[in-house]
Amino acid sequence: MGLALYDTLRRDRVQFEPLEPEHVRMYTCGPTVHDYAHIGNLRTFLFEDLLRRVLEARGYRVTQVMNLTDVDDKIIEKARAAGETIAAFTRRYTEAFFEDLATLRVERAEHYPTATGHIPAMVELVLRLEAAGHTYRTEDGSIWFRIGSFPGYGKLSRIDLSGMRDGARVESDEYDKEDPKDFALWKAAKPGEEAWDTELGRGRPGWHIECSAMSMAYLGESFDLHTGGVDNIFPHHENEVAQSEAATGRPFARTWLHAEHLIVDGQKMAKSLGNFFTLRDLLKRGYRPRAIRYLLLSVHYRQQLNFTFAGLDQAAASIERLSDFVRRVSELPAGDAPSAELAERSRRAGEEFDAALDDDLNTSRALAAVFDWVRDANRAFDAGRASAADRPALEAVLARFDAVYDVLTPDPEELRLDAGIQALIDERETARRERDWGRADALRGRLEELGILVEDTPGGPRWKRSPGA
Ligand SMILES: [Zn+2]
Repeated sequence: MGLALYDTLRRDRVQFEPLEPEHVRMYTCGPTVHDYAHIGNLRTFLFEDLLRRVLEARGYRVTQVMNLTDVDDKIIEKARAAGETIAAFTRRYTEAFFEDLATLRVERAEHYPTATGHIPAMVELVLRLEAAGHTYRTEDGSIWFRIGSFPGYGKLSRIDLSGMRDGARVESDEYDKEDPKDFALWKAAKPGEEAWDTELGRGRPGWHIECSAMSMAYLGESFDLHTGGVDNIFPHHENEVAQSEAATGRPFARTWLHAEHLIVDGQKMAKSLGNFFTLRDLLKRGYRPRAIRYLLLSVHYRQQLNFTFAGLDQAAASIERLSDFVRRVSELPAGDAPSAELAERSRRAGEEFDAALDDDLNTSRALAAVFDWVRDANRAFDAGRASAADRPALEAVLARFDAVYDVLTPDPEELRLDAGIQALIDERETARRERDWGRADALRGRLEELGILVEDTPGGPRWKRSPGA
């Protein structure tokens, strides 16, 4: 069996096999760092984290490259409006981006190259394309890729090019393009803009060329996986294929994976609709990072994800259910022999979990496999048919789950809150021991206001968050 992935290029599910044994080379289109990432962007980055973790769980070593676009029209415009250099302006959003990834527990890629840090590699690639006759220059000094020179143009997006017009989107500096679909490899400097003096003249790179140049610099001319959001397929990825393969004469990325859009309450997310959220917006409303992570990972990446606050509450409740289960496993009574029934049930759960993820990262089926197992194991616990001897088998499934989903350990903020709650519980215990019932009740009331349910057990007080708290 093994891992099967849906390849946008072949429009088919393919058995994954890397070009080099046991080593996966993967390129991920990163952010343009002129603003905070919104939850739609983050959904795509989490899908890529899921993919990376599944590859690692299957024993592959992964080399992942994610570019940071730190120069483009918008950045130049916004930096100028802020009275800053583009370097100073983009640094702020680059830092915010890495903070967001860390908050959502996205594993670090091996390389995060910036466009401004790789101008020579881009210049070299444009020179190669120029030498091979795929480019032309316009009067202003800009260099264009002639898509008519690459017969495979359109093979990734399968877009119908016959009726395509630039229409209203013609920019003033594109007036003399030969074909409206041709795209800029190098943009000649305009007065007042930041620019680089290179063999191509004074200017700056077009957007598409950076991903071709940087992926090849770190991963080689042919590599395994290229990922992004569906909105990248055309023109960005189509152009990457054209300029890369025209330059090298070799296949570029072998398999292309694209994440679908995120919508909010059934509508396209837009600032004008008031349904536009960054991670920071959700954290300010008191949502926990691991609930956001869980929600964004809970829908198959090739389906639209409809983000709702009710869904986020459900995600938090699901994590709570898993945390309860983890606690029960840790508190199983002593026993000598493991239960054959639980061992078999756990083995099956692990297999179903892996099989679902191997099926093009079918995350909802993988989660269902885990929750069915949790339900069955809880029943065995309730019936007294489990003991500490079963712990290794149960913990193995939990570890397998959390290596990919990574939601079982509390967020730092939760731990801080938990410490505060524990202090209140300890204080209540002291009051009870001193038979200060009034004070003990007041503290219980305070905990209830915080959404904390306290249960007094023979082993001492135990607490949990009430659902929805
Ligand atoms: Zn890209």
